[in-house]
Amino acid sequence: MTGVKSLFVPGPTNIPETVRRAMDVPMEDHRAPDLPEFILPLFVDLKKVFKTEAGKVFLFTASGTGGWEAALTNTLNPGDKVLASRFGQFSHLWIDMCERLGLDVQIVECEWGTGIPVETFGRILAEDTDNEIKAVLATQNETATGVQSDIAALRKAMDSAGHSAMLYVDGVSSIGSIDFRMDEWGVDIAVSGSQKGFMLPAGLCIMAASERAMIASEGRTMHRCYFDFRDMIATNAAGYFPYTPPMTLLRGLRAALDLLLDEGLENVFARHNFLAEGVRRAVAAWGLELCAKGPEWYSDTVTAIRVPEDKDANDVIKHAYNRYGLSLGAGLSVVAGKVFRIGHLGDLNELMLMSAISGAEMAMRDVGIDVVPGSGVAAAQEFYRKNSPKMALAAE
Ligand SMILES: *Cc1c(COP(=O)(O)O)cnc(C)c1O
Repeated sequence: MTGVKSLFVPGPTNIPETVRRAMDVPMEDHRAPDLPEFILPLFVDLKKVFKTEAGKVFLFTASGTGGWEAALTNTLNPGDKVLASRFGQFSHLWIDMCERLGLDVQIVECEWGTGIPVETFGRILAEDTDNEIKAVLATQNETATGVQSDIAALRKAMDSAGHSAMLYVDGVSSIGSIDFRMDEWGVDIAVSGSQKGFMLPAGLCIMAASERAMIASEGRTMHRCYFDFRDMIATNAAGYFPYTPPMTLLRGLRAALDLLLDEGLENVFARHNFLAEGVRRAVAAWGLELCAKGPEWYSDTVTAIRVPEDKDANDVIKHAYNRYGLSLGAGLSVVAGKVFRIGHLGDLNELMLMSAISGAEMAMRDVGIDVVPGSGVAAAQEFYRKNSPKMALAAE
């Protein structure tokens, strides 16, 4: 196939040219005397992205899933009770990990397409007068269904219940793309990965722990080794790592952080909201439904689109790839074959997204989904023409 392939899965995302070039470097000495001059500012700038002053940032060579494991094993005891809700494949996998690690998970099952049941959590926590629940797990953006949850509201509910549980947030597909405030929301552990909002290849788990989580990690007895915070702390302060760091990814991270901070986080969030709204306008014009059950759940980083009941979303995905070189996200588990997803996070602008909308529209028509030709494209075009990210921010 000539020309570029279009990558619109919700991670890995498109890597900006400057970031890619920053990674095209000869291998370097990770114990060099001048390495800390490069490493220490990375931690300083990552704290800005997580919006934490007192928190400690960790960089593990792993994907986001490794961050879940680090969060759980560093701060809990075997058999500890945690509260979680399941409403998509990622919230499900985190629960599955808890169970496999021997934690006692109180699960609140929610309809896929909805998000964190804040009121139910509040009630459960208020009734847990002995503080048996040690941690609350929250998937801020459920990438499988395109559902964004309200972490600030969850914090409020936890405070109203007067509960002392820690709050762990999976921000793999949200941090660096939509609003996240670690300190203000009282988040104890926030987990992200390199290949989504950070616009890098996969391979770096980027996470942060609050002072409270750090203190908890001192005395907890779950087995851990590679992910032990204490080994990291021992070397990070001086600007090094306990084992070989992925230097190329760290060079890329430097460039990616420069891009994010130069654009300004609030502008990055406004851009994601704006781009996402164009996709939603297209879906509405196609006469299709989102997997997300209502506007309060709409994700600004990924849109999951339901195909008509008698059609298979996998046909759309396969055809889009084979015929047009367009990668769309597949439906996972419960929604497999029912939805396809357009990822819209990272290094993106209107015209890039227009290619995804256009390609999805063509692929749908090719496999017999009867959307009006040009309808989604026109709706998105008109939205993008008449609005701008700043307006999206001002409208709030
Ligand atoms: C991608 C993703 C993960 C898993 O990350 P890996 O990097 O594949 O381990 C976890 N949670 C959410 C919400 C995600 O989007």
